[in-house]
Amino acid sequence: MPENNEMYEQMGISKEVTAYGEDILEGLKDRFLQIDRIAEYNQLKVLKAMQDAKVSEACLLGTTGYGYNDLGRDTLEKVYANIFHTEDALVRPQITCGTHALALALSSCLRPGDELLSPVGKPYDTLEEVIGIRPSKGSLAEYGITYRQVDLLGDGSFDYEKIEKAINSKTKLITIQRSKGYQTRPTLSVEKIGELIAFIKSRKPDVICMVDNCYGEFVERIEPTDVGADMAVGSLIKNPGGGLAPTGGYIAGKKEYVENAACRLTSPGLAKEVGASLGILNSFYQGLFLAPIVTANALKGAVFAANFYERLGFAVIPDGKEERHDIIQAVTFGTPEGVVAFCKGIQAAAPVDSFVVPEPWDMPGYDSQVIMAAGAFVSGSSIELSADGPIKPPYAVYFQGGLTWEHAKFGIMKSVQQLLDEHIISL
Ligand SMILES: *Cc1c(COP(=O)(O)O)cnc(C)c1O
Repeated sequence: MPENNEMYEQMGISKEVTAYGEDILEGLKDRFLQIDRIAEYNQLKVLKAMQDAKVSEACLLGTTGYGYNDLGRDTLEKVYANIFHTEDALVRPQITCGTHALALALSSCLRPGDELLSPVGKPYDTLEEVIGIRPSKGSLAEYGITYRQVDLLGDGSFDYEKIEKAINSKTKLITIQRSKGYQTRPTLSVEKIGELIAFIKSRKPDVICMVDNCYGEFVERIEPTDVGADMAVGSLIKNPGGGLAPTGGYIAGKKEYVENAACRLTSPGLAKEVGASLGILNSFYQGLFLAPIVTANALKGAVFAANFYERLGFAVIPDGKEERHDIIQAVTFGTPEGVVAFCKGIQAAAPVDSFVVPEPWDMPGYDSQVIMAAGAFVSGSSIELSADGPIKPPYAVYFQGGLTWEHAKFGIMKSVQQLLDEHIISL
């Protein structure tokens, strides 16, 4: 009978790399058990949310045209509200991505003269244009909404003194990014977010606290809305879509703010009442159902990668032992060759476009060349195994996703094999 090792060999992984990987895995049993326990909790949470909302077979069908009385759409929004323990939610295929969901939440709750504050440093790249940090057509800045930012302290903690000073009579909304995204600061735990929100609300109770929840969903047992956030916002082609949602975004929060967002997404007066779901709801429901397990699979991949590359001598963020609050793993190679080889390995492990060789290119909006590896069923999906890295010091790659743990494991071994074949590392 063929052994797993033989299969790995057929797939281009040498015995050495397989053995090295198995050795690393031996030490990860407790971590994986912890991840499984959280996944189990969240699986039940999602199931309960669906049962409590009385999801029925009819909910899986879609509407056309205006989409009035779309039972499936309205029920799915109840399911999200149940999961996030919020009054309401907006979950739509018409929300095109995470940036759009965030822009919607911000632009619908802010008015000219209001001020937006980020107490956790610079937000995700694409939000710079939404806010107007980088001038852009239609930015909040163009509408007379000002922006203030307080950076995290050197050790990654909140600068409460400066935050207190930054809050003023104009401060209307606070944006808190949970995930580090593509920065080197630590990702915030939900508990930490709760502490920050409590502090802010003690200074200004009526300020709206919004959390950019991208990459964080289902990593912990609780979500930011369980610790005082007025809104949690994210993308369906990341964790909560479970790899099946082909597009979409969500905003879960207080009724008033969700309604604001709906009025902006569709039109004042129409709000949540319109928006045909066409045939997409089945994938939203089924993806959400799978999301806790898919997130756990991606997390296991991230932990495995951290430990593998740490043992090989590379700097990794988070490190192999750290508790996880999102699914992103950074590995610093220190050379362009390392970044390219890693991405080649990930690409070669993909179910789609595995025969394509990724190359660095001049991507719009970036100040250096960028290399990306992705062979996904859903274009651009980063809950599927993917990696990218800017070709500039410190030459780090950001790696995330994996619909199954087995695939994430294979992808990481493939990347190690590529580095080995190019004599960048030795085992
Ligand atoms: C991915 C991401 C976004 C933007 O999402 P897109 O779907 O790429 O527009 C915003 N914030 C964070 C932290 C993210 O990880």
